[in-house]
Amino acid sequence: MKTFLSLFILLMLLFGCKNETTNSSEEINTEVQQNEFAIIIHGGAGTILKENMSDELEAEYKAKLEEAVKVGYTILKNGGTSQNAVLKTIQVMEESPLFNAGKGAVFTNEGTNELDASFMDGKTLNAGAVAGVKNVKSPIELAIKIMTDSEHVMLSGEGASVFAKKKGLEIVDPSYFYTEKRFKSLQRIKDREKTELDHDDKKAAFYDADIKNSKFGTVGCVALDKKGNIAAGTSTGGMTNKRWGRIGDAPIIGSGTYANNKTCGISSTGWGEYFIRTQVAYDISAQMEYQQKTLKDATTDVIQNKLTKLGGTGGVVALDKKGNMSFEFNTAGMYRASMNDKGELILKIYKE
Ligand code: ASP
Repeated sequence: MKTFLSLFILLMLLFGCKNETTNSSEEINTEVQQNEFAIIIHGGAGTILKENMSDELEAEYKAKLEEAVKVGYTILKNGGTSQNAVLKTIQVMEESPLFNAGKGAVFTNEGTNELDASFMDGKTLNAGAVAGVKNVKSPIELAIKIMTDSEHVMLSGEGASVFAKKKGLEIVDPSYFYTEKRFKSLQRIKDREKTELDHDDKKAAFYDADIKNSKFGTVGCVALDKKGNIAAGTSTGGMTNKRWGRIGDAPIIGSGTYANNKTCGISSTGWGEYFIRTQVAYDISAQMEYQQKTLKDATTDVIQNKLTKLGGTGGVVALDKKGNMSFEFNTAGMYRASMNDKGELILKIYKE
């Protein structure tokens, strides 16, 4: 009996130690926390060249990006949530005619504006998304409402507007989204379509013109708050001259937006069809989770290798649980900014 008891105690001790070792090795992380909180944003990627930009316009973009990122930074610094930081930061850009989101959204072939947005909460893996709404002032707010106040992840078109109204979100006349600059872009593309293209559906001019000759302008934000929660959001008007109810990657969770406290948060911008096919945002998170890649290695592989090989163009902003940040794009430029917990600001447009 005595021998049996000693053996039992010995086994218990061994078992206990083993458990302890397993747990502590899971908890010990040799990577150093880079930032207690941080925020990173984009205002679209594309053929953004210094020679095509006036000093005034460049200053306007930089000022708006700085204003937006500082709104989110202040929320995080004061202990606010990453969800609120993403919402308020994106709303600054949605309200600016400079970006292809909210006011300033690009036009469809029919001359309307159809807006897409998505949001994801890295703690709960809850998500909300909206596609093709025409009269909701802040699509990112609607995406978050769909996450918090409905049992669904994605709503579209008329139904999404009805839901927004019911939830008391601001509804605007569709003319609110009009800007002359974007309307003229549509006319230019349509003129080219008439003269140069053979009307083959696959050669739909909106791709050609938007990708080679101008910039995109979708907006996105990823934030890490003091509680360690990551949130990500994206908002866009899509692509100029889109038709047939075309939906891009921006409202697709896993393509345009993804967040997971275990890994990172991502917001994408670029040629949406390729971002959907590459599952850009989720693939970055998956490479970190399953291959233990760093944020930098995962974003580089997905954008510079996988997306580029398929022929896709664009980029991402990404932020991991340790507060590391990454801007990754394969275009000439990407409107972008970030702030760390020391209040250091990065503000850039072109490739360097
Ligand atoms: N990704 C967006 C879309 O395809 C466009 C953009 O990012 O500019 O709808």
